[in-house]
Amino acid sequence: MSSLAATETATAFVEKRPLERYAEPAQPSLVGMPRAMLAQALAAIGVPEGQHRMRVQQIWHWLYVRGAQDFDAMTTLSKDLRATLAQRFTLARPPIAAEQISVDGTRKWLIQLPGERVEAPHEVECVYIPETDRGTLCISSQVGCTLNCSFCHTGTQRLVRNLTAAEIAAQIVVARDRLGDWAAPSDLPLAGGSERRRLVSNVVMMGMGEPLYNFEAVRDGINVIADGEGLSISKRRITLSTSGVVPNITRAGAEIGSMLAVSLHAVSDELRDQLVPLNRKYPIAELLEACRNYPGLSNARRITFEYVMLKGVNDSLADAKALVRLLKGIPAKINLIPFNPWPGTKYECSDWDQIEKFSEVVFAAGYASPVRTPRGRDILAACGQLKSASEKLSARERLALRAMAMTD
Ligand code: SAH
Ligand code: SF4
Repeated sequence: MSSLAATETATAFVEKRPLERYAEPAQPSLVGMPRAMLAQALAAIGVPEGQHRMRVQQIWHWLYVRGAQDFDAMTTLSKDLRATLAQRFTLARPPIAAEQISVDGTRKWLIQLPGERVEAPHEVECVYIPETDRGTLCISSQVGCTLNCSFCHTGTQRLVRNLTAAEIAAQIVVARDRLGDWAAPSDLPLAGGSERRRLVSNVVMMGMGEPLYNFEAVRDGINVIADGEGLSISKRRITLSTSGVVPNITRAGAEIGSMLAVSLHAVSDELRDQLVPLNRKYPIAELLEACRNYPGLSNARRITFEYVMLKGVNDSLADAKALVRLLKGIPAKINLIPFNPWPGTKYECSDWDQIEKFSEVVFAAGYASPVRTPRGRDILAACGQLKSASEKLSARERLALRAMAMTD
């Protein structure tokens, strides 16, 4: 085999192609749309170009500050415009297929998105984790994943479909609806950044999918989420987690500017090739170089390195020491994630005392509180008890644990 063919085979093995077909609703929803798409929607119903900016601004406020659920609520628009909008568009949110609420306040929603056939929707999960000083929403960027990390259940799913920018941003809208997290009219004099604290104050893109293999939609979706005149969650409070798509890390630095989390999981290329097969394409040295060059890093603005604790695989104290050596010079946080097992996996979670010993080495090197207490254990247990759990169900369960282990 020529070396080119060998490379192609290796690449085909590590990456799957996303499906781009799904049944678009006859009447599209405006919810989650970036400003430019909203302007196109207005153009499509004959709003003159000179008015686009102002109309987009008005609709933006109703959609993303007030959480309007129907066009009639948009009282700053003329009745005619509201009626025309309602003929062509909706303000429908992606439906919630299931909701679970933990005693600690953690909530999981299973969100439906259009599939190839209307009767077979795709599903992604979204998890809300309240803490004393913040509320973090964990959102998805793909149905399934383009990659196939050996310890990750999402990676075993064959179907991959990229979420659109609107579907990415709509997850925040769905969460704010369910939490009643919209500005009340009495908040409005303060609207635009200084209003009362929102329940959803932080976003992590650590749900299903590899965000940097859905770059444009993730970028545009994050811009909707971060827009200071709308959902208003600043980019410093949005963290994108990647398994290490090196060229797009550089691009994310230039074009997105959110916080970055990198799924490292191993300190040698030999092991990382097995855990995160994308490492064969972008090995550790290249990955860390891209991290070093990520713009705006400082002690107050660090990259989070995620490290899943796999018993007997990557959890020795020699690994811990190598990890802190490897990250030397990069403003970094280290998140040790207890492995969440799934049916059929060959891995086990490290013993708790080993995780503690590992974290002590990391702590001694100057990295604070690296292990996160899993949240929402009761609702996870409820899933876990279903012995005949379908793949989908266990994927959901895993997703939630991941999110819970990784809030900051
Ligand atoms: N694709 C991106 C973001 C989604 S995965 C990425 O890989 O970074 C979010 C995090 O969950 C990653 O750090 C991933 O390695 C971790 N993860 C995946 N499966 C897990 C499991 N079974 N137990 C614990 N963490 C897991
Ligand atoms: Fe995809 Fe992330 Fe899972 Fe790897 S860990 S398969 S990149 S979701």
